[in-house]
Amino acid sequence: MTDIFAKYAGLKSSFEALGQAAPRNPFGVVIERPLSATLGLIEGRETLLFGTNNYLGLSQSQAAAEAAIATVREEGVGTTGSRIANGTYALHRELERRLAETFRRRHCMVFSTGYQANLGSISALAGKDDILLLDADSHASIYDGSRLSHAQVIRFRHNDPDDLDRRLGRLKDHRGAKLIVVEGIYSMTGNIAPMSEFAEVKKKHGAWLLADEAHSFGVLGDNGRGVAERDGCEDDIDFVVGTFSKSLGTVGGYCVSNHDGMELIRLCSRPYMFTASLPPEIIAATLASLTEMQARPELRVQLQANAKQLNEGLRAQGLHVSPHISPVVAVTLHDVNTAIAFWNRLLELGVYVNLSLPPATPDQNPLLRCSVMAAHTSDEISRAVAIFGQVAKEFEVN
Ligand code: PMP
Repeated sequence: MTDIFAKYAGLKSSFEALGQAAPRNPFGVVIERPLSATLGLIEGRETLLFGTNNYLGLSQSQAAAEAAIATVREEGVGTTGSRIANGTYALHRELERRLAETFRRRHCMVFSTGYQANLGSISALAGKDDILLLDADSHASIYDGSRLSHAQVIRFRHNDPDDLDRRLGRLKDHRGAKLIVVEGIYSMTGNIAPMSEFAEVKKKHGAWLLADEAHSFGVLGDNGRGVAERDGCEDDIDFVVGTFSKSLGTVGGYCVSNHDGMELIRLCSRPYMFTASLPPEIIAATLASLTEMQARPELRVQLQANAKQLNEGLRAQGLHVSPHISPVVAVTLHDVNTAIAFWNRLLELGVYVNLSLPPATPDQNPLLRCSVMAAHTSDEISRAVAIFGQVAKEFEVN
């Protein structure tokens, strides 16, 4: 019998080496219990959470919890079916209507996760005769959606509209559609896309533009619609994809658009059609979170202030972070073993962040990816920064 796991020999040895560099598995952390939006119980200790995507703290929203409880009592715990069969309830339609209204677009499709929103939108929009132009630092869901589409994929340099312009210039004679995919805020580094410059390039070349605002929805723009709203170029974005699992604190994803062809996507997008729809209590919680996000713009203001405090605090400790002020603040290190040991020490001292290792990181550098929430107090941020400073000294990386 051929060993079906033989292809993972390299992975096995890297994982074993990781075990030697650290007393615990950084990819197997258990949050025994969330105590609040910003605190969790890890290894029996109260730990500061600086590695979630819970930007507005809404995973702990009382209104969302009450909505979910009431709905689960009335409608049950799951739909047991696909959106195109028995899995569309009035609530799914209501959420699609609310999101379309929020983004001021005619069409919205809700998917079971943000991952599937990218997979299902990109794979259905682009066909084998089309070309996808992807930012090199795109999220895995964008790359996976591209593979499922069978379209030709061209990567352009991260956040570089000139490079995109050059590459599109070489495709003048291509007859299929050209779909550019960018993110609003990049999940690993917190870098922000120069959205209006991308919009100009798109118009110049007659291409289509999809923006994944997963990390920027609820975070940027006067109404929280993301980078395109902040930069005043929403009309040039053909498709906006997003997720409920970050600023809204639940789970699920969406794609909104003004193009009427979107309704055809419902009939051919495999990640939309061949999976069970979101349970009603999740939809109810998401609707309540959306209402709360819109009723409390002060959360975005606080988030921005907290992002600035964390970014500048870490920088003042001599650590390397992105120049963009965003709620994702990633400390770049250069050595994997140091990064693993650094991450462990932070956890021992009561701070949880995400450890991201190459090849999953841009430029092959390990990252200590922090994320900040509106719910963090200034004191919690100062404590985390001080602990980062202490560990940086111990490992001589600042
Ligand atoms: N897009 C981006 C840019 C992301 O960072 C993520 C998740 N990290 C997703 C999509 C997928 O979202 P979800 O986790 O809600 O499936």
